[in-house]
Amino acid sequence: MKDTFRHQGKRQHLVEILKEKGIADQRVLTAIGKIPRHLFMDSSFEDHAYQDKAFPIAADQTISQPYTVAFQTELLAVEPGHQVLEIGTGSGYQTAVLCELGARVYSIERQQELFKKTKLFLQKLGYRPKYLSFGDGYKGLPLYAPFDRAIVTAGAPYVPKPLLAQLKIGGKLVIPVGDDPQIMTLFTRKSATEFEREEFGEFRFVPLLEDKN
Ligand code: SAH
Repeated sequence: MKDTFRHQGKRQHLVEILKEKGIADQRVLTAIGKIPRHLFMDSSFEDHAYQDKAFPIAADQTISQPYTVAFQTELLAVEPGHQVLEIGTGSGYQTAVLCELGARVYSIERQQELFKKTKLFLQKLGYRPKYLSFGDGYKGLPLYAPFDRAIVTAGAPYVPKPLLAQLKIGGKLVIPVGDDPQIMTLFTRKSATEFEREEFGEFRFVPLLEDKN
């Protein structure tokens, strides 16, 4: 679990690349500049950890491309203290970004292997999400609702109703919707019954699957 000067240098270079690609939120860039992404990946990919690419993790899943993480996080507009629901814990990298932004994070993962591994790993690294759940993200976490923010990090064939229902008024949901590719979509809850919907271009994610495994 080493974070060397070489890693830190490569990480700053990645931050520059993300800026060039249009990421402007300094808090998001600072978080990415701080988190040792190479530790979230299989050691055989370590040398590539600071390329702007997705990589395989356990259970046939992927750690999202840094640009995608930055883009989604920027759209989410997290403030310190926000209650944030994340669907698809995966490697825990996005979870760590949310923790760095001062969010109280509730994250759901449907692959038991990843759930167990990432729970231990985040602890080791010193990240303290409020709650990591092994379960089905389509259902959200009604027990901990309502949320200020919700983020889905897998491709959703449709927008799960519970995720919209579990938002506070003024709350936001960022979700990639569709089969392949997905359209990055931002919902803002305007009232008990009204949601604004905005679209932000094409992305590619592993699919959001139903039920747990
Ligand atoms: N945020 C992750 C991205 C992981 S890829 C990271 O930064 O590494 C998407 C993740 O969503 C995978 O781990 C996959 O197992 C998980 N997933 C897929 N369907 C799900 C569901 N219905 N509920 C919760 N997690 C799900």
